[in-house]
Amino acid sequence: MGNFTEKEKLQLPKGRLARFGIGTDSPTAQTTIRSFFRGLTDIVYPKECVSCKNKITNYAVDDLVCFDCWTSIKENTPPFCIRCGRHLDKKNLTKNVCPDCIRREYHFDRAFSPCTFEGPVKELIHEFKYNGKDYLAKPLSRLLINFIGEYRVPVEFMDLIVPIPLHEARLRERQFNQATELSQYIAEAFNKCLADDILLRNRSTKTQADLKTADRLVNVQGSFSVQENTVIGGKNILLIDDVLTTGATASEASCALKKAGANIVFVLTLAN
Ligand SMILES: [Zn+2]
Ligand SMILES: [Zn+2]
Repeated sequence: MGNFTEKEKLQLPKGRLARFGIGTDSPTAQTTIRSFFRGLTDIVYPKECVSCKNKITNYAVDDLVCFDCWTSIKENTPPFCIRCGRHLDKKNLTKNVCPDCIRREYHFDRAFSPCTFEGPVKELIHEFKYNGKDYLAKPLSRLLINFIGEYRVPVEFMDLIVPIPLHEARLRERQFNQATELSQYIAEAFNKCLADDILLRNRSTKTQADLKTADRLVNVQGSFSVQENTVIGGKNILLIDDVLTTGATASEASCALKKAGANIVFVLTLAN
């Protein structure tokens, strides 16, 4: 599989296996170095799937995720809530908005996610984010790129791809920002401008995963700002993160972007 032209990549038939066809092969220099060393260890240790940890015996996506895990990633399917992007069940179809979004206000215009946060994708995101496996950006970004093509997320109208930043203390601890790694692949696949330095995280917040919904809102309030002298007036922005849960973090980041004059802010995360 592979070697599709840009146009063909976006026209791949709908379905799980279409994910294999998306090819973005341009890791950063840093990832190249890490991949090189990983290549060396592969000679010594046989490869195992990053998700299920079983030895890879057959085809694996990017030599990292086994076929069984990849094909059992739970897709987020339409109809989508027009605000948070979650699947709408039959009861809520007529409203276009899910029950959570009726009660919540967001500063972004709309969010999109290719997967639901469970099973192999949850495990992969955990390994990516907390266990230093930055090379997982490659298979994970395939999910985003394919989703954009399949559901015609209007990236053509987006001016900037902006990753949700980490506070510098957390960045030092993790060595890389998972959202930036994903954004690099998105920007490259759609020939867009990556703006990874315009949004700033002012303070280190508690990990949202440990907090209840109301506390999450308070925790992130005022935690983002836009770099001084940055001109984003009238720009349409695609904000990238790994997971959308209550939407509080993405909303707060969008608030800072909108205050600085951004026009439309869409949010794209791996899972919701
Ligand atoms: Zn597996
Ligand atoms: Zn919703």
